[in-house]
Amino acid sequence: MDFTLSEDQELIVESFRDLMEKENWEPYFLECDEKHEYPLRWVKELCDLGFDRIMLPEEHGGLGLEQPLVTLMAIYEVLGRYGAPTYLLYQLPGFGTILREGTQEQIDAVMKYVGTGEQIWNSACTEPGAGSDVGGLTTTYQRRNGKIYLNGTKTFITSSKGVKYLVIMCRDADNPDTISEFFVDMSKPGISLSPLPKLGLRMDSCCEVYLDDVELEEKDLFGKEGNGFMRGVSDFNFERWLVGASDYGMALSAFEDSARHAWQRVAFGKPIARFQLNTLKFADMSIKLDCMKNMLYEAAYHADNNNGEVDPGAAAACKYFCANAAFSVVDNAMQIMGGIAVASEHRINRIWRDLRVDRISGGTDEMMILTAGKFAIKPYRP
Ligand SMILES: Cc1cc2nc3c(=O)[nH]c(=O)nc-3n(C[C@H](O)[C@H](O)[C@H](O)COP(=O)(O)OP(=O)(O)OC[C@H]3O[C@@H](n4cnc5c(N)ncnc54)[C@H](O)[C@@H]3O)c2cc1C
Repeated sequence: MDFTLSEDQELIVESFRDLMEKENWEPYFLECDEKHEYPLRWVKELCDLGFDRIMLPEEHGGLGLEQPLVTLMAIYEVLGRYGAPTYLLYQLPGFGTILREGTQEQIDAVMKYVGTGEQIWNSACTEPGAGSDVGGLTTTYQRRNGKIYLNGTKTFITSSKGVKYLVIMCRDADNPDTISEFFVDMSKPGISLSPLPKLGLRMDSCCEVYLDDVELEEKDLFGKEGNGFMRGVSDFNFERWLVGASDYGMALSAFEDSARHAWQRVAFGKPIARFQLNTLKFADMSIKLDCMKNMLYEAAYHADNNNGEVDPGAAAACKYFCANAAFSVVDNAMQIMGGIAVASEHRINRIWRDLRVDRISGGTDEMMILTAGKFAIKPYRP
């Protein structure tokens, strides 16, 4: 398959490369990581280049690209290669959900932030008692005196400290088989947050979200009542592919850092690149990088030729393979770099911490295997 970029795509990708080269961003990323702060200045610059408009339809200010996903993939590759925290960008290209499901008021509320780089919205499905088995959720909504009230607890909710809105999945207290979603303004009374400590992803927040009789109105329903579960699931495929794209880029930067280091670092009288045990690591790393790159571009290419829909089997396979392969690449790169990878401010230290979660969040390895396997054998079913 030929993934050569068109001239227009090359120009777009070039502009992101220029952004990463015009400044050494690493001290800023390091500072934000240490302070647990969102790097707004960097994300705003990405948005100035149109990052959050790549997937938008032209009537909403989109770039009107022929191959939006392939282009996005190439941008992720460039950003990742420079060690950028692409894990932060998961919602920015994803306005499609809001445009498809939202009311005009909800669309307007979200679209006014396009170009700002700010965190806007996220979905809240997971609860202390419902993770992989999200259908076991117990957060409820109930109609009383012409209003709707939300009660329950959501956990591990990414960006919940920064976003303006959460789309919260919950069940009808009076009709528990009905699962719906609500578009909730985070400044509403009754919402409180408790930040969770994490291994990585420190430039983003992750909180437990308490909902205590949060008062909503009918207009706050997100999508069709009773369709909450299916709506949530419909976004998974794009997100899973995106996780793979982010993981691949980060692994690429770790590989390149370790390869440069291996030629410079001398032990026993020669560069450590010359030791066969390290050659084995570099072979393994480069094969994994090649496989990740090919499967991600291929899934993007097919999605661009299928109204932007990422195939569910391919999405699960990308997330499962890339989360594991990228972690293995970064771990091997760390081994090659020796002590400075662990006991210094080198970016590989941050990247290693940031990657581990992707085998769990957004669907665990085990859930990805179930989906990827199901789709792999589907065509052979009698
Ligand atoms: C940093 C972070 C950010 C997150 N962000 C969000 C967010 O923004 N919004 C949101 O809604 N959620 C979010 N999550 C939640 C995430 O999606 C869940 O953690 C994930 O789905 C797993 O749920 P769990 O942690 O409860 O693990 P569990 O479901 O309890 O699973 C524990 C283990 O059992 C395995 N297991 C479970 N069922 C099976 C089975 N049938 N077969 C084999 N193995 C099984 C799992 O694979 C896993 O290894 C986030 C999580 C983290 C850690």
